[in-house]
Amino acid sequence: MSQEKPTIVNCPQCGIPVVWGDVSPFRPFCSKKCQLIDLGEWADEEKRIAGAPDMSDSDGWSEDN
Ligand SMILES: [Zn+2]
Repeated sequence: MSQEKPTIVNCPQCGIPVVWGDVSPFRPFCSKKCQLIDLGEWADEEKRIAGAPDMSDSDGWSEDN
């Protein structure tokens, strides 16, 4: 019962194989870049400018507090 074969996952962003282990600190992503992209921090400013219809959509639903 000794599986020394490393687990390989695919990076959700670019799809390249990533070793699931200490060698891949950003797993399941291949790199920090892909991780940031997934978290939405990569284009943080762009996203905020592009679309933020979240605040002006509440006509007093639960904002009255
Ligand atoms: Zn990647």
